[in-house]
Amino acid sequence: MKIAVGGIEHESSSFTPVETPLSLFLRDHHYFEGQSLLNRAGDTNTVVDGFLSGVRNHGQTVVPLIWSKAPSGGQPTLETHNHLKHLLLERLTDQLPVDGVLLSLHGSYSAQGVMDADGDITRAVRGVVGPDCPIITVHDMHCNIGPDMVDSATALIVMETYPHTDMAERALEGANMIVRTIAGEIQPTCGWCSIPIFWNAARMITAEQPMSGAIERLWKIEQDPGVLTASVGVGYQWADVDVAGASTLVVTDNDLPAAKQMANELGRWVWDHREDWLCPTLSAVEGLEQGEELGKYPIILADQADNPGGGAPSDSTEILRLFVERNLQDAAVLYIVDPESVQQAKAAGVGSTLELQVGGKSHELAGPPVSMTAQVLALADGQFVYDGPMFKNLKTSLGDSALVRQRGVYVVLITKPNQPIDLAFSRTLGLDCRQMRYLGLKSTGHFRSGFGPIAGSIFNVDTASLLTQDFDKLRFTRLGRKVYPMESGAALRI
Ligand SMILES: [Zn+2]
Repeated sequence: MKIAVGGIEHESSSFTPVETPLSLFLRDHHYFEGQSLLNRAGDTNTVVDGFLSGVRNHGQTVVPLIWSKAPSGGQPTLETHNHLKHLLLERLTDQLPVDGVLLSLHGSYSAQGVMDADGDITRAVRGVVGPDCPIITVHDMHCNIGPDMVDSATALIVMETYPHTDMAERALEGANMIVRTIAGEIQPTCGWCSIPIFWNAARMITAEQPMSGAIERLWKIEQDPGVLTASVGVGYQWADVDVAGASTLVVTDNDLPAAKQMANELGRWVWDHREDWLCPTLSAVEGLEQGEELGKYPIILADQADNPGGGAPSDSTEILRLFVERNLQDAAVLYIVDPESVQQAKAAGVGSTLELQVGGKSHELAGPPVSMTAQVLALADGQFVYDGPMFKNLKTSLGDSALVRQRGVYVVLITKPNQPIDLAFSRTLGLDCRQMRYLGLKSTGHFRSGFGPIAGSIFNVDTASLLTQDFDKLRFTRLGRKVYPMESGAALRI
């Protein structure tokens, strides 16, 4: 069997003013094509590596397309989207015929003028391979599933964990499914229910209730002998597009009515429990004070509104200012994107003390900068290898970086936006997060991969930044339907 493997992954924010450039889709360690894709060992927790190892485990032939992953951010231009789509389709066309296609698509990719870019790619791939070739797509849990994706793919599979520790596992499931489909053992049929809900991130953590209850429901559905897989997508809420919202998907073996009925029943259950997926927003001060009252250290303030993993600039200063003003000891903020301060620290050198205006430069909500008399403790080129469960062994670079300190407050300054997922990078700078009493982390949920085990208490806080979870503060104009909780008339239509 010849099985094409590829993907274009992006989570695109309509509220981030800077577009994601093509260069970020083609950067080192995150863009592979042809032979370079084939050369991957297939051993990291990514969807693409799960596909590669899954196809190889079955003794089948990988047909390499392109795999590209840009960090979450503003919508790319139509030109960027068309260029990437062309790269993928060209490789596919050149290597026809194939027996099946495995695609890694985030599920919340949109471009300027394309509200559902994942759907656009899936539909284009279907156009190349024809109606009978199986296409199986694997998506992030934060996917906004639309009709083009469901109509064009044979089956869709969504991750079941947040933090996403099952990326490779879901891809292996996709690879198994496509091999069995090509062999004629099964005939996947996919039912889908779109749910007009904007879910709060703090209620998506799969290790905790109420989200663990939703996952247990999926597993129960999967025990039905006619069901191949079931999924729930919690959506990506900062996309002003008509496919934004939650979804349920059930894939059966050649029984479309049953697939649709089960997806609808699960969708109805999600809708009926809609109040469970909301949580009141907490300010940084409230989070800190609740943490002190509880007395379990380190207290982690998850700065969800400025999470670069969701496309925020990662330089808002509210938590840093709070730590400095309260003169906290053993407090650290990870990571503030501030290339200017990094270069100033670099010019001054390790051991020196200098005046820095830290953060608050990207956007009016992010500032103002915090004036610090900062001692430079360490400098780095930003290269490191993750060691937590989510991205273990994956290499990445945060660009030129510095660890600075003013009294008891440490700040890790970086150049390329990325959220703290585990303790590995801080350790390269000599900062042991386990020794901290207070951690301000620019992350919403993925930090739990490495920081969960060392946390005394965790508070998701809503600072002034672009990705507020108080959705009433955002101005949506293209949703095309009423969405809960912003609009009282929102309704599930099945
Ligand atoms: Zn995600």
